[in-house]
Amino acid sequence: MLLRFLYYNMPVIYNYTRNGLEHLMSQLGEKPFRAQQIMRWVYHQSVDSFEDMVNIPKALRQTLAENFTFELPQIEKELISNCGTTKWLFHFGDKNAFETVYIPESNRGTLCISSQIGCALACQFCATGMAGFYKNLTTAQIIGQVFLARSILAKRTNKKHPITNVVFMGMGEPLLNEQQVFDAVSILLDDLAFGLSKYKVTISTSGITPAMRRMVEQTHAALAVSLHAGEDSIRSHIVPINKKYPLSDLMQACDHYTQSTKRLITYEYVMLKGINDQEQHAKALVKLLKHRHAKVNLIPYNPIPELDLKCSTANAIDLFCQHLLQNQIRCTVRKTRGDDIYAACGQLSGSVFDRKKSIAPYLYLRERSN
Ligand code: SAH
Ligand code: SF4
Repeated sequence: MLLRFLYYNMPVIYNYTRNGLEHLMSQLGEKPFRAQQIMRWVYHQSVDSFEDMVNIPKALRQTLAENFTFELPQIEKELISNCGTTKWLFHFGDKNAFETVYIPESNRGTLCISSQIGCALACQFCATGMAGFYKNLTTAQIIGQVFLARSILAKRTNKKHPITNVVFMGMGEPLLNEQQVFDAVSILLDDLAFGLSKYKVTISTSGITPAMRRMVEQTHAALAVSLHAGEDSIRSHIVPINKKYPLSDLMQACDHYTQSTKRLITYEYVMLKGINDQEQHAKALVKLLKHRHAKVNLIPYNPIPELDLKCSTANAIDLFCQHLLQNQIRCTVRKTRGDDIYAACGQLSGSVFDRKKSIAPYLYLRERSN
């Protein structure tokens, strides 16, 4: 019997949440606790063969072995920066690759993971956006990044839990790969798997508002919103998806999230010289966020050689941050890490050979015809 066609149509064990595995066990006439045993073997013991799961009945082990694999992405390259930031380039058999970055700090270790190969949303300052879109990653390919990074780092650092935080800030727009990302979050938070805190797994989105509204019911991840401007005229120019989901809609979706979860939203704001870094831009941002449960993270723009954009000066970033703080809006400036290995925010382009859709040409044509 080919069990894989009964459920996810994907035979890789890392695709399965606890609920998914319990459902599978009931289809096999087994008790739900078998799912829990399997998860412990897979994630706590890092076992990669059903044969080794000695507390599972032999017949069940055999059925599972005939129908599921432990396939993980393969590592194509590893680069370690002089500040300890590590970047891996992963692939799964073809020439398209995706990237994962680990950022060690004294009190935490953050893994920045990809949800897609490339991205269709073509933000004007982003290397991933320039690469175009190839493919959504499966839950197993998303989880595989954490699984492999954890095992490499645990050996290298001698720490049992080298990864304390996971952020969906690598390649791709996570809310355009919603179900696979929500399932991956469920595995990251599950005590039987990675057991991370719900405050330490963050989905970052450019503002896919229908999916943001669904987040409340379907996942417990923290939310970061890539805002980059407090006015539609500027935001639509640098984050083209704003033409589809403008600020009025975006802020309603943000309010729905904060009211339902009582949680704070982090607003990311990339500092672009002469574009969004002046006093009037800070004022627009204050107007937008003043009465909201918000924290702003200013990101110095990491240069992409092909682009004619510049990062704001340190002084402009400081003034901008001061303006927010004076208006009671929490604000931090992100430290740039890993730019020497091209692993800083927005510098992840992987290798997208079979690029498909990007909304950029579509928007360009629309702008011209207006
Ligand atoms: N697609 C999602 C998550 C991936 S991008 C999103 O846009 O939120 C992760 C973060 O990196 C976003 O806040 C994005 O705006 C930022 N970013 C992209 N390019 C950048 C660059 N060149 N310099 C600094 N930050 C950048
Ligand atoms: Fe896509 Fe995010 Fe880059 Fe925009 S910033 S192109 S949404 S990955």
